[in-house]
This record gives sequence, C-alpha cells and structure tokens, in this order.
Amino acid sequence: MRRLSVRTSPVHGRGVFALSDLVSGELLLEYKGLHLTWREAQRQHARSRAEAGHTFLFGLDDGSVMDGARGGNSARWLNHSCAPNCEAEQDGTRVFIRAIRPIEKGQELFIDYRLTVEGRRTAAVRRMYACRCLADACRGTMLSGRR
Ligand SMILES: [Zn+2]
Repeated sequence: MRRLSVRTSPVHGRGVFALSDLVSGELLLEYKGLHLTWREAQRQHARSRAEAGHTFLFGLDDGSVMDGARGGNSARWLNHSCAPNCEAEQDGTRVFIRAIRPIEKGQELFIDYRLTVEGRRTAAVRRMYACRCLADACRGTMLSGRR
C-alpha cells in the first residue's frame, strides 16, 4: 500500500504528503540522487536556474550533497521546514527519511535541509536558499545554522 503521495504543496511547488497516519520513528523512504561535492552542486545549480525555486540538494554530514534532480525519487519533493516532522538519517552515503513525530493522513512531510555552503554566504547565496516555511520558529534559511 502506498503511504505517500506527491502533489501541490501550499508551502512551495510540489510536496510529499501522508496517505495514511504515520507513526513517529517510522522509516518512510530513501532519499535518492546523485552524490556530488558542494562545488559541483553549486555549478550545476547555477546552470539550471530555470528550475530554481525547488532545491533538490540534500546536504550530507561531510558537506557533500545528494542531487535529487538526477537519479532521484519522490523524496526530492520533500520541502524544507525549520520545524520538520521528518528527519534524514545518513548511513554511509545513503540517506533515509524517518518520521520524528506522528504524522496525520493528509499532512505534508518536511525535513530540515541543513545545507552547508563553502565560502561566504553572499546575499545571492542567502536569497537562493531563503526559507519559505510557515513554522513559527522559521530561521529564514534552508542553510544550516553553522557559520
Ligand atoms: Zn523556515
């Protein structure tokens, strides 16, 4: 039985939604994509500005990223929230999405992207990764809190 579906999100573009009630701690899906260094990802991101607005990049612990736009699955439509109901677990270079709260049928799934950028966070970089989530605790960026 399918537990998740992709459809238009009130937060941004498309999103991933629960088709049934999900239990906290439940493993939901794997985040698939091409494994890239941050620099490679930045170059490609700049090249594909036409698609800008949806970030398919997922930051790994070592600063590299998964590019869900290539070789990705429906997990690439997970929107960012500063108060997420899911969390990404890294196992080597594989990433799994797990519920960290009970999620009701129909609710959108969110993760905290925690993207890391190399070099200075210029105004352009900050704009590119500005957060549009509706959380009270929104920190205004999809980048990690680390400076
Ligand atoms: Zn936010």
